[in-house]
Amino acid sequence: MTALQEHLERLEDAITAACRAAGRQRGEVELMAVSKTYPAATIAAAAALGLTLFGENRVQEFAGKAPALEAAGLRSSTAAGTLRFHLIGHLQSNKTTRAAELFDAVDSVDSLHIAERLNETAGRPAAVGNLSRRLPILLEVKLSPEETKAGLDPDSAETAALLERLPDLPHLRMRGLMTIAPFGVPEDETRACFRALRQWRDRWAAAHPRLAFDVLSMGMSGDFPLAIAEGATRIRVGTALFGPRAPRPEPH
Ligand SMILES: *Cc1c(COP(=O)(O)O)cnc(C)c1O
Repeated sequence: MTALQEHLERLEDAITAACRAAGRQRGEVELMAVSKTYPAATIAAAAALGLTLFGENRVQEFAGKAPALEAAGLRSSTAAGTLRFHLIGHLQSNKTTRAAELFDAVDSVDSLHIAERLNETAGRPAAVGNLSRRLPILLEVKLSPEETKAGLDPDSAETAALLERLPDLPHLRMRGLMTIAPFGVPEDETRACFRALRQWRDRWAAAHPRLAFDVLSMGMSGDFPLAIAEGATRIRVGTALFGPRAPRPEPH
């Protein structure tokens, strides 16, 4: 058995246990494999074990892996219904076109400006591939005060404006919310963060009936059982599957 196989089995057991403890079905929680920093070969190995949903946090990095994935028939644009790749990292506005070309969804929309840009790009007549489509998105919400973290302030005027605007952006398809819990805080704080995301979802879903909020993407290797307890429909797991990531330089 490979290390990846072993990790996946252990992870599946933990997800199942967390679902059972929360009175939920395993099928209610989707597992996203976070493959950032790992090469296309690792993604291929994970796909061979049945994983289908992948998260990448940098446009440039994924652009580098895409040709190998395409050659292996693993890109969704080339093979019907195989793998899906979502952007889960902060998107700069000069990379929205590339992001819309490369990814099946953007789970890290964190400003009105980025939403408008993605809508324009996704709506352009298919210059590249399948660009004329509705790009699925999640809104990334920031629920803890770290300076370094991206995400919308749920109480802000910008978030209110974005939620008003989204139903009129024809090339985006709103799916739900994403958050990253603060690191190194007591469990009850982590859990409160996940609960807060669920409560914002409930509030916004009631106030914006034209928008879908079916996805709650929350929980990572260190905290996914708490996220499952608070209603996560998708967890994003890197380290617990692929092992620790090598440190890398900051982006430019
Ligand atoms: C890296 C990353 C993850 C996965 O983190 P692990 O702790 O390795 O499971 C999840 N979500 C986002 C947004 C990430 O950048």
